[in-house]
Amino acid sequence: MHPHLVFWISALVRMTIALASAAVGWYFWGVTAGLILALVGMVVLVCVQLHYLLMLSDWLDHPSSARLPDGWGAWTEIFSRLYKLRRGDEKNQAELAEWLARFRQAMSLLPDGVVIMDDVMFLEWCNPVAEKHLGLSMAHDKGMRVTNLVRTPEFIDYIILGRYEIPLTLSFRERKLIVHIIPFENRRQILVTHDVTESERIDMMRRDFIANASHELRTPLTVINGFLEIATMQPDLDVAIRSSHTKLMTEQGERMQRLVEDMLTLSRLESMEYSVRHERINMRVLLDQLRQEAEVLSAGRHQISLEFDGPDIQGSTDEVRSALINLITNAIRYTPENGAIKLIWKDLPQGPKFIVQDTGIGISAEHISRLTERFYRVDKSRSRETKGTGLGLAIVKHVLLRHHANLVIESTPGVGSKFCVQFPVPAEVQV
Ligand code: ADP
Repeated sequence: MHPHLVFWISALVRMTIALASAAVGWYFWGVTAGLILALVGMVVLVCVQLHYLLMLSDWLDHPSSARLPDGWGAWTEIFSRLYKLRRGDEKNQAELAEWLARFRQAMSLLPDGVVIMDDVMFLEWCNPVAEKHLGLSMAHDKGMRVTNLVRTPEFIDYIILGRYEIPLTLSFRERKLIVHIIPFENRRQILVTHDVTESERIDMMRRDFIANASHELRTPLTVINGFLEIATMQPDLDVAIRSSHTKLMTEQGERMQRLVEDMLTLSRLESMEYSVRHERINMRVLLDQLRQEAEVLSAGRHQISLEFDGPDIQGSTDEVRSALINLITNAIRYTPENGAIKLIWKDLPQGPKFIVQDTGIGISAEHISRLTERFYRVDKSRSRETKGTGLGLAIVKHVLLRHHANLVIESTPGVGSKFCVQFPVPAEVQV
């Protein structure tokens, strides 16, 4: 039935009852009694309505679907409709809260920073990554102007110019950030920050490597080209001079070859697809061979000894061989004649350890942390004289990284150096 109809019928019924009781009073006790009864009936009806109005007003102060008042007559309908509205409202609110929680979680998982601001840059909301990137704090900075929180001239100029179609590259708190500002709705803007510090560093390393490698290759090429030019211009050159030129060209060719080989080794070690082999490395055999190679290289100029007291390990024999031979040849190259070179293989609670100790020229402290950088040399001419490429320790570092081992360098200039390779405890070497 239509709610209006219900309302009028129930009101009519109530008024009829009041008027009927007044008519009965009039009939039995006279006009005055009839009027009094009508008045009392009306007052009762008004009081009942007022009572329900009061209940409704109380409920509106603290609306809850759990404690909605019971009604009478048209009030039943009003309360039941209010109940439905309230239930719907509560459901919407629960859905909204759940959606908001999901949105916040998704935003906090984003690798990029997201800041929501109004049209005049007042902070409304930001995710944890944005807090980290821009040094913001939702707890303290909400409602503050973002340009007062990120106070760098580049950022402020960018906002003033307002050319948001071009992203801003911002150096901020030792990070490199790409910042985008996207206006949305009418009076809001989203600021997105993307951290490119690491990729920039890798890019820079790559650029440096290419520049260094080109420089290293250019020198021998220039020498070879120079001699070739002489040979072309002066075909009747003295045989002795010609053969000395050929010798120098061969040396430079070999130098280029060593460089290219080391660069290829490095790029192979860095490549993700080239995974490390897990074979049993017979350390006794390997270190005996390395010692013999060291003797050949030293050609009797040094005293070379091997102390062997350690287990076999797992890994790639070729890679470990190339790392250890690099350390051994360095010891020979940087130790003057009659020096001593000790090779030690021992077992420690933290795992097997390889040590190359020399009594060579040593390295001063400020160089030690940079030795494994590509093309880093303490003394360029000495490295070249001894056929160094400047890539040996970079190769060592990569091999050790792939074998979960680490390198510790101790050195005193003029006294000697100690290169220690700590391998991890072997995981059950299979026989
Ligand atoms: P290089 O081919 O120049 O030897 P490395 O990467 O093998 O390149 O070594 C980097 C630098 O570390 C060398 O140029 C040298 O200055 C220093 N170095 C390495 N090993 C020793 C050592 N045993 N004694 C003294 N200096 C060393």
